[in-house]
Amino acid sequence: MKRDRFTIAVFMTVLLGGIIFATVLSEKHRLQTAHTKDLFAMDTYFTLEAYGPTAEDALESCARKVQELEDRLSVTRQDSDIGKLNEGNFSDSAQPGAEIAADTFELIKEARKLGEETEGALDITLYPVLREWGFTTGNYHIPDERTLRELLKNVDYTKIYLDEARRTVRVPEGTKLDLGAVAKGYTGDCLIEILKQQGVTSAMLDLGGNIQVLGAKPDGSPWRVAIKSPFESGGMIGVLEVTDKAVVTSGSYERYFVGEDGEKYGHILNPLDGYPVRNDLASVTIVGESGTRCDGLSTALFVMGRERAVEFWKRRPEFEMILVTEDGKVYFTQGLRDCFESGGEWNVEEIVRYEGGGA
Ligand code: ADP
Ligand code: MG
Repeated sequence: MKRDRFTIAVFMTVLLGGIIFATVLSEKHRLQTAHTKDLFAMDTYFTLEAYGPTAEDALESCARKVQELEDRLSVTRQDSDIGKLNEGNFSDSAQPGAEIAADTFELIKEARKLGEETEGALDITLYPVLREWGFTTGNYHIPDERTLRELLKNVDYTKIYLDEARRTVRVPEGTKLDLGAVAKGYTGDCLIEILKQQGVTSAMLDLGGNIQVLGAKPDGSPWRVAIKSPFESGGMIGVLEVTDKAVVTSGSYERYFVGEDGEKYGHILNPLDGYPVRNDLASVTIVGESGTRCDGLSTALFVMGRERAVEFWKRRPEFEMILVTEDGKVYFTQGLRDCFESGGEWNVEEIVRYEGGGA
């Protein structure tokens, strides 16, 4: 009798323990299961991956935000904020400027500031020139020099007038905006904010090659981001281990067309002459906190070329970078020393802020 009771007690304990163990496991499993969302937006593919009990709903909110931003920022839609601004006539200072959404206003402001910081290497008023080359329409062709010179007269980000109080924008006649160089980074920042607000602490967003990560992986280890090789042979330059960062790469290796002359023409233009950038750089990867700034800087530093890009970085503590030169060398900045692991076959060099270690 006594023995029976003992057996039952042991049995119950084991059963209860098993149930608790299984519950803990399934809860852990639920927290660690990846929820993903694939979208086609801004002319590219987005893959959003998030973890935790609120991830699924949060990703739905993210998808809605992406749609909203695309509707506002698209340069090819006449009814977007940018479309309205470009199609309308908002040059007359006696008339009210174009009324635009808070998001659009904020992004134009940030992009204009990046234009100042990079001394015009980033210029969001390049649109008429980009369109002439066919980069926004797909009707690619090499424009003649005179046409480019004419169009460049209206390219000047300093002429964008933002009325903070009324939240309106004015641009001179003929000046038109394209936020293509910063839109994906800004979208990433908005999505990270939504995920945080909805209780997600671990996520990885791939917005057409712009990577933005929230927190660490669910197991606590850093996210591993592969940096693609800009060369035709493919493969990768190496892997970056990061938490809470944006990793944004610009280069001319993915979006370009081959001209009648057989040459490749990339989609990043030098605002000084209106021609696709052709310098010693094959790609620029920027690592930092803000997706918007990383996106803008990756485009701008690609325009600058290696030497100017390195000088620019030396004056700023805010970001780190990886440069790949046309001759196949990889340069990374000192802040990445412990988190960048390059593939063995590359010739790699570290860039330091102060040569010789002295301040
Ligand atoms: P991707 O779109 O491939 O991620 P970028 O972030 O570098 O690349 O943005 C490139 C886009 O920005 C081009 O497609 C074009 O719309 C626009 N653009 C090209 N050159 C410049 C420039 N110098 N300044 C601002 N925008 C540019
Ligand atoms: Mg960019």
